[in-house]
Amino acid sequence: MNICKCFKCDTCETLIDCRIGMSNRDVQPFQFACPACEENISFVIGLPTGELKGASDIKDFVAPFDGKNHFIDLHLNFPVSFGKYEVGSTPFMKAIDELGHEKYFMLKDRLDKLDLIYKMKGDVIRVINQFKKEDLRLFIKSLEKLPDIELKSDKQQDVFAALYKVTSFIAEPFTIHQHNNELSEGMPSILRGLHEANYEKTVEYVELIVNNGFLKNLLHDCLGLYPRMLEFEHPVRPALYYDYIDTESCKNIPVRISTADFDTCNNFYKDLAEVFYRQLTMVAGLNNLIKRNDYNLFNDSVRLNKRNEGIKNYASLNSFANVDLGSKLSAIDDSSYHIDTEALDSKLRNGIAHYKYVYKESTQLITFYPSKEGMERDKNQDIYLIEFMRKMLLLFREVHTLNHVIKSLIYYSVLVLKKEIQ
Ligand SMILES: [Zn+2]
Repeated sequence: MNICKCFKCDTCETLIDCRIGMSNRDVQPFQFACPACEENISFVIGLPTGELKGASDIKDFVAPFDGKNHFIDLHLNFPVSFGKYEVGSTPFMKAIDELGHEKYFMLKDRLDKLDLIYKMKGDVIRVINQFKKEDLRLFIKSLEKLPDIELKSDKQQDVFAALYKVTSFIAEPFTIHQHNNELSEGMPSILRGLHEANYEKTVEYVELIVNNGFLKNLLHDCLGLYPRMLEFEHPVRPALYYDYIDTESCKNIPVRISTADFDTCNNFYKDLAEVFYRQLTMVAGLNNLIKRNDYNLFNDSVRLNKRNEGIKNYASLNSFANVDLGSKLSAIDDSSYHIDTEALDSKLRNGIAHYKYVYKESTQLITFYPSKEGMERDKNQDIYLIEFMRKMLLLFREVHTLNHVIKSLIYYSVLVLKKEIQ
């Protein structure tokens, strides 16, 4: 179903024709910028008041649109093209045409799951908060509200099992099962192999990251990202669409996201990147163990300079933790872990971290300035909001995959070394 409305911008009095495609959500928040003056216009379908801000609703306009006004198409679930009004060519119909029925229903299944989780958002967040606070009684009590998640006992391995069921439950609509599952599902056997081949160093590595609190802190950092991903379940919806068509398709193509703006999402990308790079320290230790039998020993090409002298930052895993974010990935040589390179954009991350970007809301184009160029701002890169949301989604998937590596290391400690995570 579609609703057609005509809005008059409060700031410049421009008339804007708007076609709003309905989804199954009971409450649907929309947002766009006035194409003439860039002022933000927002409203919520499903609330009695409608909460229209930035414009007034022209009640007596006569449908259909005649093309004289600016036109905005909106739909929460799909990317929406900029352009002129065409009768019947709605975002929903375009999506079905492009995806075909089978893929459309696969996408719909995930969108429905998002609707379900959204309704349980409070319960899910409470479980994670109580776990982080280490209040076992309240953690167990909050679990009762979630479906199919039972705690077998209050033994640590069972508490972690329940916790990871919760994170999988949250992540399910955002992730695709095939993604990196060789790594997350293969970790127990990788650890078993290391345990047999190099018992002493493997135990030393796990004991190090358990005793110094690194593993637990990393887990808590990851856990904090799940409720925040849920906060962005609206604007990330159109990015899921590109799982079902060629992913290159959202590059440089201006399509609209019908809710949220860049300023509300950009810090989350930065924080995801921050936690991801911390996870890479854990991956580097494992990779060093697998490749060189010592978690502290990096490849010579990384560890030594041209004069064959050791470089301080690569002298041990502990000093590697301080390496610049952008350099960390290249120090993990020939790893079994393959990161989706689309997910990581350290230039974009730097642009956000140093607050050097301009966002034009009417076109949803982000221009950022990644270089250090004194007081000048010359070298810029452009990216559309839809591409940014896609990167955010892909980076969340990487963090979620590596959270499964954390899980395997926790189980190794608790079950094999009989050492609880304190
Ligand atoms: Zn305006």
